[in-house]
Amino acid sequence: MVISDNEKSTISWWQTAGVIANVKADKLQAAAYNGTILVMCGDCDRSSDMFDFVRRQLPNPRIHLKAYNGGPLRLNPEIPIPREFRAHEQLLSGLVKTRGLKKIPTIFLLAHWPCGMASEVHMDIFQVVANAVTTARLIAEKTGWDRKRIVPLLHVDYQIKMRTYFIRAKTPEEVYNLSP
Ligand SMILES: [Zn+2]
Repeated sequence: MVISDNEKSTISWWQTAGVIANVKADKLQAAAYNGTILVMCGDCDRSSDMFDFVRRQLPNPRIHLKAYNGGPLRLNPEIPIPREFRAHEQLLSGLVKTRGLKKIPTIFLLAHWPCGMASEVHMDIFQVVANAVTTARLIAEKTGWDRKRIVPLLHVDYQIKMRTYFIRAKTPEEVYNLSP
């Protein structure tokens, strides 16, 4: 799957509108002050780039990896993941257990585009980004954790380069609002 020109325009608009923003290492480091639980897609063509990016930002990385295909899509029970792959309850229990055992209060929800699992369930880039926002809220609600410690991120494969952004939208509606 290759990113389309329309999707590139959407990402560019999101940057202008503040829906997403370039990742700043100091902010990522501050968020992950005692490590991070990294929820990302296990996609063999992009996982090493996604992991390496996070790794490079953190001077003393404690990265606890949860790399199910689809990443944050797998935590939201509303996403129509095929039944044989569904694992949202196990994944959430794993986050709770890891947080307690490893004393890591931070979660990075790293969505990415293009994503094979997203296309498998017919989701577009809007839905993938909106899901990261929704899933952050869902986790906070289900666990009682501080929403500020759950950091939604977006990794984009532009083919000639890859980039990672903070998702700053606070609601899914902000992701869909493309009017000036
Ligand atoms: Zn993926």
